[in-house]
Amino acid sequence: MKNLVQGQTGLWEVVIGLEVHAQVTSNAKLFSGASAVFGADPNTQVTFLDAGMPGTLPVLNKVCVDQAIKTGLGLNASINRVSIFDRKNYFYADLPLGYQISQFYYPIVTGGYVDIDLDDAEKKRINITRLHLEQDAGKSTHDLHPSLSYIDFNRAGVALMEIVSEPEIRSAQESMAYVKKLRSILRYLGSCDGNMEQGSLRVDANISLHKPNTPFGTRAEIKNVNSVRFLGQAIDYEIERQLEIIESGGTIEQETRLFDPSKGITRSMRSKEDAMDYRYFPDPDLRPVVVENDRIEAIRANMPELPDAKRDRFIKEFSLTEYDANVLVAEKEVADFYEQIVSHSKGQGAAKLIANWLIVEVFGAMNRDGKTIHNLPFEPQHLASLVDLIINDTISGKIAKDVFSKMWETGKAPAQLVDELGLRQVSDTSVIEKTVDDVLAANAIQVEQYRAGKQQVFGFLVGQVMKALQGKANPGVANEILKKKLG
Ligand code: ADP
Ligand code: MG
Repeated sequence: MKNLVQGQTGLWEVVIGLEVHAQVTSNAKLFSGASAVFGADPNTQVTFLDAGMPGTLPVLNKVCVDQAIKTGLGLNASINRVSIFDRKNYFYADLPLGYQISQFYYPIVTGGYVDIDLDDAEKKRINITRLHLEQDAGKSTHDLHPSLSYIDFNRAGVALMEIVSEPEIRSAQESMAYVKKLRSILRYLGSCDGNMEQGSLRVDANISLHKPNTPFGTRAEIKNVNSVRFLGQAIDYEIERQLEIIESGGTIEQETRLFDPSKGITRSMRSKEDAMDYRYFPDPDLRPVVVENDRIEAIRANMPELPDAKRDRFIKEFSLTEYDANVLVAEKEVADFYEQIVSHSKGQGAAKLIANWLIVEVFGAMNRDGKTIHNLPFEPQHLASLVDLIINDTISGKIAKDVFSKMWETGKAPAQLVDELGLRQVSDTSVIEKTVDDVLAANAIQVEQYRAGKQQVFGFLVGQVMKALQGKANPGVANEILKKKLG
């Protein structure tokens, strides 16, 4: 069986459930009008409510509710007509209200799923338990002063969507694929920017091991992982750690752990509370959230095409492989750019070739020069005409790579570069025939070897013809003429 871990006492199954905190894209916070934009000077985006002052009341931001509904629809989930905000009570220096407003008993979204793509072209469906809205806390900084901690309340009260998966994930690889896919969907929807470095998307990973067909084991939770790569490392480390403990007869503590990327290990932070410890109760300052059907349908009517649907369409419409289609749709901007190029192309079968060029040459040059899809040094129609020049036999695929390099350097149109550099392909049979004659005359020994049965010499002779024509001979025509003359 796949995804089982071999221990000394037999096989263990890994059980993982992920809680993703996704910051809602919105100008204002969940219950106040303060700006939710990242990166402002500390404590410049704080209302009295965010600072926990008495006499203030929360006012629900409708935009955040719409974003949660849109996300629920994008995850194929049910939108609940009534949901309720609860207070989750605990003390934290950067939580001035003394509680977090969250949704516990009645979340706004229930169910749904994410289909993840694994390396071996395999797919797996991961079901989602729930999505609820809640406030973020402020941010404490402990290393700016020897004896003081600093607190920035800009983040306090910013809206988060907590998206909880069922414990159906079975490995670090599946966990990473899940987060990547979820992030891609959120970005397509525009409900979260998915920026993990800035903390807009943070992952809590719950991990346990058990013997197949026995009840689940006790889980440890790794909190606030802020990169996909770290998530994979943290989970792999945690699996090994737990395996060692349970195989030697120990028990796993239900606890919260932190991943230390510099050491590649997880460390215990605190023992984990159970839900009852938070004394959840409905927030008396807020009325239940009632979502009318019309509102859901209006949002549904404006849903963008999501990555899976786009991938399926690309495969059908452009004859792409599943792999290429997945690469192109992962980021909406790349998918849009691809379609823009295709729309400029006239060549037969160009879409497939354009996909190759984008994935291999353009992505390669982007990585090399640290460019993004937003600041490429050429126009989309230029890549379209480059591919068209290959398809209509003006240049060979090999010459096209040279043209591409020049286009990358200069931003000039490929047709212009082909003319300027004299790279137009020679398909004129009389010119090629004359060159073949010259090559055969100059390489009498090789010709004799070929005729005596040494097939490999053919490649050498083709090379000589190409060289004589500076790589510009139409390879098909050159091959044909050479075959004919030798035969
Ligand atoms: P909490 O919010 O206290 O962390 P939840 O019951 O909401 O608790 O569960 C959080 C996550 O833990 C969910 O993603 C769930 O799938 C996962 N989970 C629950 N039980 C286990 C387990 N035994 N092993 C691994 N993950 C688990
Ligand atoms: Mg949790």
